[in-house]
Amino acid sequence: MAVHHQFDAVIVGAGGAGLMAALEASKLAKCAVVTKLYPTRSHTGTAQGGIGAALGNCEQDSWEWHMFDTVKGSDYLADQDAVEVMCREAVEVVYELEHMGLPFNRTQDGRIDQRRFGGHTKGFGQEPVRRACYAADRTGHMILQTLYQQCIKQGVVFFDEYHAMDLLVANGQVAGLVAYEMRTGELHVFHCKGVLLATGGFGRMYKVTSNAHTLTGDGTALVLRRGIPLEDMEFFQFHPTGIYKLGILITEGVRGEGGILRNGRGDRFMERYAPTLKDLAPRDMISRAIYMEIREGRGVGGKDYVLLDATHLGREVVETKLPDIADFVRTYLGIDPVKEPMPVQPTAHYAMGGIPTDVEARVVIDERNTVLPGLYAAGECACVSVHGANRLGTNSLVDIVVFGRRGGRHLGAYAKHAPWPALPQDAEEPSHAILERLRSNRGGERAAVLRDEMQQAMMDHASVFRTDVTLRQALARIEELRRRFERVELMDKGARFNMELEETLELGCLLDLAWATVTAALARTESRGAHCREDFPKRDDVNWLKHSLAYIDGVRLTLKYKPVKITRFQPQERKY
Ligand SMILES: Cc1cc2nc3c(=O)[nH]c(=O)nc-3n(C[C@H](O)[C@H](O)[C@H](O)COP(=O)(O)OP(=O)(O)OC[C@H]3O[C@@H](n4cnc5c(N)ncnc54)[C@H](O)[C@@H]3O)c2cc1C
Repeated sequence: MAVHHQFDAVIVGAGGAGLMAALEASKLAKCAVVTKLYPTRSHTGTAQGGIGAALGNCEQDSWEWHMFDTVKGSDYLADQDAVEVMCREAVEVVYELEHMGLPFNRTQDGRIDQRRFGGHTKGFGQEPVRRACYAADRTGHMILQTLYQQCIKQGVVFFDEYHAMDLLVANGQVAGLVAYEMRTGELHVFHCKGVLLATGGFGRMYKVTSNAHTLTGDGTALVLRRGIPLEDMEFFQFHPTGIYKLGILITEGVRGEGGILRNGRGDRFMERYAPTLKDLAPRDMISRAIYMEIREGRGVGGKDYVLLDATHLGREVVETKLPDIADFVRTYLGIDPVKEPMPVQPTAHYAMGGIPTDVEARVVIDERNTVLPGLYAAGECACVSVHGANRLGTNSLVDIVVFGRRGGRHLGAYAKHAPWPALPQDAEEPSHAILERLRSNRGGERAAVLRDEMQQAMMDHASVFRTDVTLRQALARIEELRRRFERVELMDKGARFNMELEETLELGCLLDLAWATVTAALARTESRGAHCREDFPKRDDVNWLKHSLAYIDGVRLTLKYKPVKITRFQPQERKY
């Protein structure tokens, strides 16, 4: 027995993408937000370094340069029509956020201050440019708080701590959503005309990650299970500077402010790998360079880490522009970054792949880009694709607000006018069956154990460097873990706040996404952006300048491909 609700539109997720969409959609239609976390706990709140927009407040800049950098950073896999939309609208959206009250850092004359970030240049790759707008190293926190306040002011209805489990589709059109209420264990059916998924990333697939425990790709897995493909899943970004062993992020803003990476000998090794941009080269290149240094014995003390040196920046810069990361390293490492360099290693950070959409954030369900009426996705769970094979720093915050806004507008207009779809009979039945099976299973497998094994396998065999051999090992492990997941048994059979049940549902999603990631990575016999195949070290534009689409087809996972949209910038060799 489920509780029933009716809204024109439902948005799943209350991070930056979901809240921006809710703000826009609720201007036009009756709209609810369903979120498994209390909104201000969404991962957007942890974003540190900044949001990129060519405001040109500190030096000359243009959206065309931003577009070029994004396309080049993506290793030419991004769709250029979408990148153009993002870089043009970034400027307008940042001002909109400012007018909502977002407390950005300021220049002497009172304008939004900007700092450098990896891969962002002036004059089509000449030298670093100051493009990242920031609020100290708490930019995402400020975005999330600002948007949440605006949503409250506008009377958006929130269903907090509701876990979306299923999407309802009837006669080729979205008809609703089924969610599980954590507080009571009850199922809720939302009858609606449109759904926008904004459920964030899935870094918890890996052992060392900057991502919160809740980033488990639920929305992404939900559509995969409904026969909709996932795009470019083989591309997962490792950020170069996670705190050693813990993975907690140290923002690229440290290097934006002048911080330097050094190997065990104290050398500034990035000079050898990227002579022009050095420590501000894109993340895929720096993560590989760190591993090369470590492999060749130049890690610190022969171990698997290097140093991020901010000691020359002075106390004032560190305390005023990077206060949170200074706090993290004091707390977790007992180090004062003003006096000592910070031990860092690459950490799993960002999913470039996800739910395929067009520039209005409408989900497209095949290689011909056919739209499924009423279904939208925006933010990290989506793949529009503006990041291609490698995302530049500051471009996710831009992506979530630009495409959250566009998706929200389109969804609001659609949901206002579309006819009501019939609610499928027994809409909650498949979700009910999943919960019942989990509660009654006696197979003896533990979700926590399976999760550890999955994270280790992905880390060992499908992270920064990959080969046919390692990916086959990963695939065998993931397939085995998916079989064992069928026998997973809960110790807690209760209905209220059953976090073991919650984590088990999340693990099921992660296993499906790991499966898609490894399968797509095994097929792609080239190196591009974050996907580095040691057995195929070169980029291969003749055969692989295309997006992958992974479908679950019964018990198999199959791959199809679709072309990349190239408008202004033809693929070139990627030198920095
Ligand atoms: C530590 C860190 C620092 C970062 N720094 C930067 C930066 O400086 N600049 C930059 O551009 N990018 C940065 N990023 C990346 C960027 O912050 C994220 O990609 C972006 O914020 C994602 O926003 P989102 O709205 O898509 O999802 P999120 O903010 O992750 O929100 C996801 C939402 O989905 C909801 N949800 C998930 N599953 C379900 C479910 N089953 N049912 C209901 N609700 C669900 C959650 O409750 C949550 O509200 C950083 C990321 C991390 C981890």
